[in-house]
Order: sequence, then structure tokens, then C-alpha cells
Amino acid sequence: MEFNILNHFKGMEHQPQDPLNANEIGASLFMGGNMGDKVSKKMDEYAKTAGMSRRNFISSALGLSGAMFAANEATGMEFFEVTKDEIADLDANKELMQVARAGTDFIVDVHTHVCTRPGHYVLGKNTTERGMWFVNLLDDLGKAFGMKNGTLDMNVENYGKLILESSDTTVGIYNPFGFAEHYGGQDMVPMSYQAQVRKQYPKNTIMLAGGLSPNQGLHQTLDRLRHYVSDYQISGLKLYTFDATPKKGWWFDDEKLAYPIWEECRKLGIKNIGCHKGIPFGQFYARYAHAEDFDAVADDFLDLNFIAYHSAWPYHAEIAALKSFKPQRKNLYCEVGSTFAATVSSRPIECAHVLGTLLRDLGPDYVLWGTDSLLWGNPQWQIDAFRKFQIPDELVEGYGYPKLTPEIKRKVLGENAARIWNINKQEAMQAKVALRSEALA
Ligand SMILES: [Zn+2]
Repeated sequence: MEFNILNHFKGMEHQPQDPLNANEIGASLFMGGNMGDKVSKKMDEYAKTAGMSRRNFISSALGLSGAMFAANEATGMEFFEVTKDEIADLDANKELMQVARAGTDFIVDVHTHVCTRPGHYVLGKNTTERGMWFVNLLDDLGKAFGMKNGTLDMNVENYGKLILESSDTTVGIYNPFGFAEHYGGQDMVPMSYQAQVRKQYPKNTIMLAGGLSPNQGLHQTLDRLRHYVSDYQISGLKLYTFDATPKKGWWFDDEKLAYPIWEECRKLGIKNIGCHKGIPFGQFYARYAHAEDFDAVADDFLDLNFIAYHSAWPYHAEIAALKSFKPQRKNLYCEVGSTFAATVSSRPIECAHVLGTLLRDLGPDYVLWGTDSLLWGNPQWQIDAFRKFQIPDELVEGYGYPKLTPEIKRKVLGENAARIWNINKQEAMQAKVALRSEALA
């Protein structure tokens, strides 16, 4: 079994060691993917020009800028707004990064996780072989991004350290993993464990519930949903339409199995409902990763927002078509976690097509920022890469994509999520400043 995203950094020649150093993580991904050899050779050149050793160059702020500059050179297109000065001089780099940051300093990461639980995952004891396969996959991801103990390091403490303290993320929205059938009858990440994140960072996090599948029994599902609202005051759902039950999956537009859940959400005041779409990995069936079930449910529940996580990539054109041909819709959203990270670092032209399609068809008010961290470690390189990313003119002309204006970036990075989750921007920004200065003290 192979997970496509892993291919993006398989054979990553430069293994980042420090999970706090996001520049190094980002640069390493650019050097490990499709353009890896070309980018890597250019890094030697740039390091020489900057008068630094290769190792120092890669782990400095110049490294990530260098990787982006190299991607422009390797493709002959301008995907990243990076100048020659930025890869040769630390002061110039800092100054130009400040310019890119100004105006996009409010960031809501809609897609984050912790990924462990008390007792963790032990094969044969509380985890099946299939369950272990997923744990191993996440372990490999964590190790590739400097978290030496894999999933064990994707804990509450590191959520704070890597996402809230050492990245520009203002608010992290997170959700649990279910698949209880693989994990000794207990959710892979139980609500009770992930609730500690919010307890520690109440003003900078928003908690979603998950782990619900009507294939586990509709009555039980509705019961758990009510319990999540009363006991945890959840702010939405993020679900999986493929599941670990013998039936393997379900659909959001199933009037018998799913509509009672949405009706209950209405009663409970739950408005934002996300679903893993796209990235059809591992033992799960790809058919359930398509977003066609969003078509009927979006029309039948106009007062609820439906969010396609991962933007349903590589089926993103399907979710986009649900709006481009039905432009009256105002409750269809997408989120770019893992999709942006995987494409921007090794297939920038694909990244431009994905973002371009979503922005053109769903519209700039309906695309949400997400990184899928802690699975990708410290998300700062993703934030900086997005700030610097641009859709090249050729694609704008030929496909009708919008340019990534500062306004569009602001909407995607934070304002859209703030609108649908009613986030008090000022309060969150103040709490963020306090949190960072406490971390430094
Ligand atoms: Zn995720």
C-alpha cells in the first residue's frame, strides 16, 4: 500500500532534525520531490553566493526562499514572488518577508490534529494491523519533519509549541480521528484527549467533533453527537465518509442514514460540517472520497455549511463544478490541508491549477486555509509559501484563474474561517501575542 503524499518526500536527501525550524522542513520538501535534483543543485549555487555552507544555508531563512526561487528557475514560470536579494542576504530576506506578512497576519488553520491518546497504539493489544498501518504512516510523516517519536510527538504539548507558538497561526481548528473498529473500540484520537488542547489554549483553538459514522448505528451516532455538544461545546464536525465498519462507507446525501444527523445538527446549532474528501489513502475506498454527495445535501440543508477537506484533491474539479454550474450556492466550502503542502513543494503548476480552479469556481469567499499539521510538523513554511505563491500570468490568461491578490490571500488565510466560525479577530490576535511572549519568557 502506498500513500501518494509519501512519494513527495521519499528519498528526501536532507532530513530536518529540528521540528521548530520550519524553513528547513520546507526547503527539504522542495529538494525531495519531483524537482528535487534541480532544486538541490541550485541550493549549492545560492549557498555559495550567500557565502554560507550548504547546511547553514538550508537551515536558515534563506533556505526556503532559495527553494522557492529554484522552483521558479526549474520551471521557467513565476510561481513564487521571491527576489534574488532574498536568497543572498538575511536582512533583505527578513525585510521582504515582513512585507509579505503585513496584512496577512491573521491566520486560521482550519485543519489541524493531535495524533495520540493515553495508552497510544499497541499492535494486537489496542490496535489491529490495519490500524497500525495508519499509525506507521503518520509516524513516518512525523519523523520526516523532525518529530523523532512520530505520532507520540503529535501530542497536546507540541500542538501548542509547533502550531501556536512557533508559527504565525492565530487560531487552530482541530478534529479527532475515529475508526474505533481498528483501535480497540476507542476512537483513534478520542474527544476526551484532544479536549486538552482547548483547555490549554482556549482563545486560540476551536474544537470539532468527529469519529461519527451512522454505520456504527444511527441511534448511537445521534447520541454521541448530542453528548459532544453538551459535554464539549463543539464548534462543528469533521467526518469521514469512508469508515472502518464492514460497510466501509456512507454518503452525506443518504436520506435515511445521514439526514437525521444534519437535522440534529440544526437543532443543536451546529452549522459547520466538514468531511475528508480526496486523498483516497490506504485501505479506504476511493469512491467515498468523492464529493458528489455534497450536491444534494447542500441544497437540502441551506442553513448548514459543507466543507470539503483537502479540497477533495485530486477530485477538486468535482467540488468546484458543484458551484460553477450552480452559482447560486452559498454553503459549499473547501479547505486546502495537505493538498497545498504536497503540491506546492514539488508540483507548483498543479498547485496553481488546484488553487486557481477552487478560487475561480467556488469563489475567493469559500476557500479556507489548512495545513493538516501536526501531520506536517511546524506549519510556518506552508504559511510563508502561500504568502509568496502566485498563479503565473500564463495560467491566469489561459484558464481564467484569478491572481492571488493580497485581498484573496487575507480571505483564504483567515477571514473566511472567521466569518463562518464567528471568530473575534481582535481577541484572538491579542491572545496570540500574549501566548508568544509567554513562550519566549
Ligand atoms: Zn487531516
